[in-house]
Amino acid sequence: MRIVRETPLSLTVELAELTVTMLLDGETAMPLTHLRGLDGAALPAADLAGADHSGDKLRLPVRAFLVQGQAGCLLIDSGAARAWHPTLGRLPAAMNEAGVGPAEVTVIALTHTHVDHVSGLVDEDGGLAFPNACRVFVATEELNAFRAEPRMIPVLPRLMPLEQGDGPMRGVTAINAPGHSPGHMAFLVEGRMLIWGDLVHHAAVQFPRPEVTWAFDDAPDEARASRLALMEQAVEAGWLVAGAHLPDPGLGHISRAGDGYAFHPATCST
Ligand SMILES: [Zn+2]
Repeated sequence: MRIVRETPLSLTVELAELTVTMLLDGETAMPLTHLRGLDGAALPAADLAGADHSGDKLRLPVRAFLVQGQAGCLLIDSGAARAWHPTLGRLPAAMNEAGVGPAEVTVIALTHTHVDHVSGLVDEDGGLAFPNACRVFVATEELNAFRAEPRMIPVLPRLMPLEQGDGPMRGVTAINAPGHSPGHMAFLVEGRMLIWGDLVHHAAVQFPRPEVTWAFDDAPDEARASRLALMEQAVEAGWLVAGAHLPDPGLGHISRAGDGYAFHPATCST
């Protein structure tokens, strides 16, 4: 991996034939009580010693990812636009910094259909934000949830079902990672970088203690199992990991540490 471009809202790295760009949609804050223990209750204060928070709020960056190569330009997730917190919705600015216009996106795939991942598909006038993206892949389990969102009506003719093993673009493979949502998907890029969506919401706690779940997990036990399985697989395979809510720059290496794991954010030297 080689870092080829870095701006305040973006970081582009080169793999073998594909480049991947981390795009920061913005940052918001979530209550500390969103982190949940095995009993489903909020973690006690003593268990939050390493958390990255200010007062009673956890930092929550929101990212999307762009994968570019000869086969096209794949956008994975699309940020929150104006649909969630006012500090989010900077995806168009991040893409501009990265030197990519919205018309260049040829295909879109979603890790899941929560508001901070789908909302940027539609622009402020209700039109398609990425007019040349002919296909928008959504996990089969979440197609109905996507269709039920009135803002997404313009996208519906482009909707394509996504299943484990599918390749929304050459060199990119979908991997089931259910639990946070019913059809939550990760994407393996060139067999070396796993873009894992919302497998982790708060790195400082959930790498050392991957059993900790998140208040918005649809099925916490399943989310925990997916996280443990993919973290272990990433260590074994030596994959880079990238995630929508990982700390800057949203990409790094993972190693075993004690009873859990450690996250090593990518820097220019790695
Ligand atoms: Zn999310």
